[in-house]
Amino acid sequence: MNPVEKTLRQLIALDGPQSIERMMSLSNGYYYACHDPFGQKGDFITAPEISQMFGEMIGIWLISVWQAAQCPRSVQLVELGPGRGTLLHDALRTIHRLAPDLSQSVQVHLVETSPLLQNMQSQKLGGFTCPIAWHPHIEDVPEGFTFLIANEFFDALPVRHCIRGEKGWHEKRVILDNDTLAFARDPDIAPEILIPQSFHSATAGECAEFSPVTQQIVRTIAQRLAKQGGAALIVDYGHTQSQTGDTLQALKHHQPVPVLAHLGEADLTAHVDFAALALIAGEEGCGVQGAVTQAAFLNQLGIGLRAEQLHARATPEQQKALAAALERLTDTASPTAMGRLFKVLCIHHAAMPELAGFIES
Ligand code: SAH
Repeated sequence: MNPVEKTLRQLIALDGPQSIERMMSLSNGYYYACHDPFGQKGDFITAPEISQMFGEMIGIWLISVWQAAQCPRSVQLVELGPGRGTLLHDALRTIHRLAPDLSQSVQVHLVETSPLLQNMQSQKLGGFTCPIAWHPHIEDVPEGFTFLIANEFFDALPVRHCIRGEKGWHEKRVILDNDTLAFARDPDIAPEILIPQSFHSATAGECAEFSPVTQQIVRTIAQRLAKQGGAALIVDYGHTQSQTGDTLQALKHHQPVPVLAHLGEADLTAHVDFAALALIAGEEGCGVQGAVTQAAFLNQLGIGLRAEQLHARATPEQQKALAAALERLTDTASPTAMGRLFKVLCIHHAAMPELAGFIES
């Protein structure tokens, strides 16, 4: 039996049914500490691993926002959950080439809990001269004018599930049923105050999915941006309006698997509720732009032009791969196509003007 399942069984035996939040936190903590999950041989592939163009567009966005903020001389570039460090590598390379003044003003802070991935990030980013520091939590990053990026970070953070009953809300928990891990509704009624306002009109049987950890991190980011200035770019899959529904899923070798079947061995994610993030940003006195689709954001930043540039000096085989990558990043044909399912939200100091990627035509 794997260590996550063993721990969860012990916790249930000692303390009774466990929240989905606890299960997800244990599973993903172990999963990221022990796996390099990316790419064909891994469990999933993220946008920066599909093509260098993704990180390059983020680099261009950072340059444009830096210019919009009157080119401050000292900038903290924070990335949450940098994975293999590929996005930052491509963004820093772009900044170095197109805006040397910015590249000399940047101190990089990476928020990463996995020692394995920290090590990969350190190797990947070793060639850059800017100072790079690692932190386990956003709270440990020093204060100062900040640009923050987070791609597919928030989807990995634990969520809670509460199901609307006839008389109130019931938290969904993990239990042992005939010695098998299973989901069950807590018979007790959960305090109403726990449930975000946006779900209060739900009807019996509907699931409120929300992430207190995400809310806490976004509040910290917004408080810092309001006080110290800067902007945060959040890219993830999710919905722009809060809606009921259970989006928790497990991916292993690029295939969905039952959530409780491979704890610690599969990537557990839930969709990000962008409306909830925007609400918190507003409460803390920040402005927001978006959320727009990933396709709209990348197209506005000029990914098509960049693809043409790369195409002109590529071999026929590379040209094919380039076209496929561009298509994958910006495809909007179906609701699950990456360009449409993924959204981009910017949270920023109230004084920022309309920013590249979010300009409405
Ligand atoms: N941004 C990367 C990787 C996304 S995977 C990319 O686009 O390729 C999620 C990342 O978040 C991993 O680096 C993982 O180790 C990190 N992570 C997950 N939970 C975390 C937590 N609670 N605190 C800090 N980092 C976390």
